[in-house]
Amino acid sequence: MDITRLRDETPGCAVVNHLNNAGSSLPTRRTLDATLDHLRLEAEIGGYEAADQAHERIEAFYPSTARLIGARPDEIAFIENATRAWGMAFYSLDFAPGDRILTCRSEYSSNYISYLQVARRTGAEIVPVPDDAQGQIDVQALADRIDKRAKLISISHVPTQGGLVNPAAEVGKVARAAGVPYLLDACQSVGQMPVDVDAIGCDFLSATGRKYLRGPRGTGFLYARRETTAHLEPVFLDNHAARWTGATVYEVRADARRFENWERYYGGILGLAAAVDQATALGLDAIWGRVQALGGALRERLARVPGVVLTDLGAVKCGIVTFALKEGRHEAIRAALRERSINVSISTKFSSRLDMDGRGLEDVIRASVHIYNTEDELDRFVDALQAARRALA
Ligand SMILES: *Cc1c(COP(=O)(O)O)cnc(C)c1O
Repeated sequence: MDITRLRDETPGCAVVNHLNNAGSSLPTRRTLDATLDHLRLEAEIGGYEAADQAHERIEAFYPSTARLIGARPDEIAFIENATRAWGMAFYSLDFAPGDRILTCRSEYSSNYISYLQVARRTGAEIVPVPDDAQGQIDVQALADRIDKRAKLISISHVPTQGGLVNPAAEVGKVARAAGVPYLLDACQSVGQMPVDVDAIGCDFLSATGRKYLRGPRGTGFLYARRETTAHLEPVFLDNHAARWTGATVYEVRADARRFENWERYYGGILGLAAAVDQATALGLDAIWGRVQALGGALRERLARVPGVVLTDLGAVKCGIVTFALKEGRHEAIRAALRERSINVSISTKFSSRLDMDGRGLEDVIRASVHIYNTEDELDRFVDALQAARRALA
């Protein structure tokens, strides 16, 4: 990987030491231009006319995204963010009293809030599966909980609050063997590591544009496996998802675009498609190798710093590095780093209650690396962290 070139084609690299890639990563100039050029075209010739003119490039989003995750183009829906993509799948499922939703303890807040809402409405039960000794979902414990009541297996591949990578494919084997639908929140993994829907065996997968894919904000997508989800009618329909075929009848689209809605961010689709193509061209194996190496290098540096407690779990760790300081004051540290143009974020207990409460963590500092970060930036981050701690002491 040519890091100098990667940085040259990423305008933000000249401005910030960006270690908030799990929040929103820096796009390349090509991705930025794909979006901006379309916004300009809309302003010049009209939004509908611009969409007509860019039709072929907009359509190319579907095969590009399908290729990225080993899907078919008709299994991809463009949706404005990962949460809504996930919700379109989850809320389209039917639950009855006693039905069980099997999930992981590191599950993302928005997903868990949705389980709580649906459990309250329908009488379904939420079953958080215990973690194994390394903090990932215990696949045997999951298998032990499979019975007639299991209606959905739904987990986060990589949680928002740490370096953990859940064994998504092992979970998929359990789901396939049991014939239980499997919904995977792949928001932090798509773009960071190879993700193949057949190797994983999921029925639905949700992802966002702005995180490891380096796409624009306000973009995301849903994958819906054709063989297992074609019978599902989306929780919301409009005149894009369905056609009003007679005064009292409508017909729902057959492909995954039935989960979309009519109005969308065309500039964002074009930007996301550019970002997806770039990730594919670089190669997800190469991206994953670099991100893991940088993540490991950052953990090594932090492990040597007195008063830093690393908080990442998992047998496999990704580019999301989290830690706590013995003196706390994480938010003040984050703000002090921002003044030095170093971007990190804070994950609080509100992002993943079961995990954070279970470990007695109020919040952690999250420094998430991407391919364009350098070891020099990691050094400067650790130095600045220490300077900020001294200044606040
Ligand atoms: C960020 C995140 C989401 C939400 O993604 P949006 O695009 O903001 O909706 C969902 N799940 C996980 C694990 C995340 O980290």
